[in-house]
Amino acid sequence: MILQAEKALQTYFGYDSFRPGQDRVIESILNGDNSLGIMPTGGGKSLCYQIPGILAEGTAVIISPLISLMRDQVDALLENGIEATYINSSLTSGEVSERMQDIRQGRYQFVYVAPERFDSPLFFHTITSIKLSLIAFDEAHCISQWGHDFRPSYRSIVDTLKKIPNLPVMAALTATATDNVIQDIARLLAIEPKNIVNTGFARDNLSFHVLKGEDKHKFISRYLKEHQLDTGIIYTATRKEADQLTKTLGAKGHSVTCYHAGLSEQHREEAQRQFIYDEKKIIIATNAFGMGIDKSNVRFVIHYQMPMNMESYYQEAGRAGRDGEPSDCFLLYSPQDVMLQKFLIEQSMANEDKKADEYAKLQKMVNYCHSNSCLPRFILDYFEDPQMTGDCGHCSNCRDEREKIDRTRDVQIILSTVKRMGERYGAGITAKVLKGSKSKKILDFRLDKLTTYGLMKNQTEKQISDFIHYLISDGYLGLDSGQFPTIRLGSRALGVLKGEEEVWVKSAYQIQHQDVSYDEQLFEKLRSLRSQLAQDQSIPPYLIFSDATLREMATYYPEDHNAMLAIKGVGERKLNEYGEMFVHAVTEYVQAYGKAADKTSVPVIKKTKTAEEVPDGDQPSYMFTYSLLQDGNSVSKIAIKRAMTEQTIEKHLQTAFKEGYPLPFDQWFSQELEDEVLTVRQSLEEPKLKPIKEALEDKASYFQIKMILIKNTLM
Ligand code: ADP
Ligand code: MG
Repeated sequence: MILQAEKALQTYFGYDSFRPGQDRVIESILNGDNSLGIMPTGGGKSLCYQIPGILAEGTAVIISPLISLMRDQVDALLENGIEATYINSSLTSGEVSERMQDIRQGRYQFVYVAPERFDSPLFFHTITSIKLSLIAFDEAHCISQWGHDFRPSYRSIVDTLKKIPNLPVMAALTATATDNVIQDIARLLAIEPKNIVNTGFARDNLSFHVLKGEDKHKFISRYLKEHQLDTGIIYTATRKEADQLTKTLGAKGHSVTCYHAGLSEQHREEAQRQFIYDEKKIIIATNAFGMGIDKSNVRFVIHYQMPMNMESYYQEAGRAGRDGEPSDCFLLYSPQDVMLQKFLIEQSMANEDKKADEYAKLQKMVNYCHSNSCLPRFILDYFEDPQMTGDCGHCSNCRDEREKIDRTRDVQIILSTVKRMGERYGAGITAKVLKGSKSKKILDFRLDKLTTYGLMKNQTEKQISDFIHYLISDGYLGLDSGQFPTIRLGSRALGVLKGEEEVWVKSAYQIQHQDVSYDEQLFEKLRSLRSQLAQDQSIPPYLIFSDATLREMATYYPEDHNAMLAIKGVGERKLNEYGEMFVHAVTEYVQAYGKAADKTSVPVIKKTKTAEEVPDGDQPSYMFTYSLLQDGNSVSKIAIKRAMTEQTIEKHLQTAFKEGYPLPFDQWFSQELEDEVLTVRQSLEEPKLKPIKEALEDKASYFQIKMILIKNTLM
């Protein structure tokens, strides 16, 4: 039987061999057993029911959740010379009755149908009057209430099935089934355990990357420039962000379109069509986009913000590389993404239990972003998929060639600080203690009396808190989830505290000077050298050197091998392979143009200030404002102290908030006022400050309106 199947695979689809699991599912269906196939996206689930449908006598009915998906599959079958059609809401009633007639005559080998249509008396009547070869549920997780895409219309089919006298064998296919979803599907469709084929979740052709602290816009511009021929998806967390990014990238001449639930159905369908047919290379979308998109040549999926959980992330990222070709998945992380997701959870209608669950899932997502080990491994561990052995070797962590350094002592300091603080505080305040901050909260709680206070003062608060998050993701610290999570010792803490375990980490967590100015002209030159090398070898440019590495070169002008080896991202192997060429490029450049003048400027303090008012060291100005706020100063007081306008101070607070620092909103306005402002804003055509204020008849100050908008990330 399987020989016949192989023949059909070659004849109709032109493929030589089955992908993992396909043969087993096909064999099981051809045996007449109800079967469930769980395979990763792009694993080739369609063929699992298409081949039995071709080989068996009668008509196969495929239940499929999305109109576009049905159309594509039907087109593909017709292309291969197989009679197929679909029934869904995109047809006129004339078309429907015509197709029903043809179905009754047994004209089609495949009929795709939307779940809502399956239940209609006309459809039911039609299919009970013909010979059926099989009924398949594509995206079968939609049938389960435990699934994240539950569709009641899928579920209700199960009752209808019981009434079908000529019920054929049934097949269910999905990529996203957790254990309870699998059990649910199996029970509903009477599938025996031996007929469940689970090939696991691994997607070897995808390279996963997490980027932290990058300028997201710049990264995307650079990436798109280097991948002009590729097509991809950029996911944003909000509609507004999607609109904005579409505008910005469109203005730069990229071929983009936009998709989110705030756009008209017509616009969405058009956007989807343009993307699928390669008329637009890039679609910028919220998570509303993608279900059932079978476009196989998506070369990259970029998450512009961190999504809310690993389930969504893997599903969305998994839309890259269905054709099995190497593809990229980038997640651009910044701390304010966490704030946004928390906000979305708080705002949702979910009950407290559900919210707690979402917070726990969000924390796992944050852990992923801070993890230092193989990313696919982290993902598969999360899904409890034991099938991966060894590291992937090509994610941003596996490829990270920076040296590992011993940070056991820092970790011991952090762990004992957490212990001394009674495991009752969050990462932010712990970082403050270690930095030796004099903020009001620290002094009020007498945390400055701890023996570890200020022990890491040579690092910035952000570096310390990043490192704390890294320790959380690696199990040295634990986190009690919630809106304001507190940290405690994790399962691996004891060994380190006792001196039995050492902690070696990649040097990124060492003090790192960001925002060094670099020689852009040299950078461009190095980049084009890299592109050329990449082209010659047909590999992606970043496999040669990352942009960060090139930027370091454009900062330190390495003109010999030793200097080159000192550049971050240049190891022995890369030095041997590319060192010569890049040293040459730098030398040539320096001879022609010289080195850029030292651009590091001394901070200019324009007005005379008392010692108290001068920001310390490398602290950004907005953080100084923020610390004054924490010390209990009002905005106008800070403005006077810092000799700045109140608007500037408000801008600082906005920046701080965006960077993930909480603001005392409830001191500034009540919930009622917030609701009122948001409602008014919604009702206005031009939701600017002034019209909002006027519409509210001065119930709110400009400051309050601004802060409400900031809190709701509307500003
Ligand atoms: P899924 O539904 O599992 O996400 P699809 O059924 O859409 O995946 O298949 C993804 C791609 O893989 C399609 O382009 C399909 O033609 C191709 N494909 C499926 N099976 C094979 C195979 N055995 N050999 C080569 N390509 C295959
Ligand atoms: Mg599919």
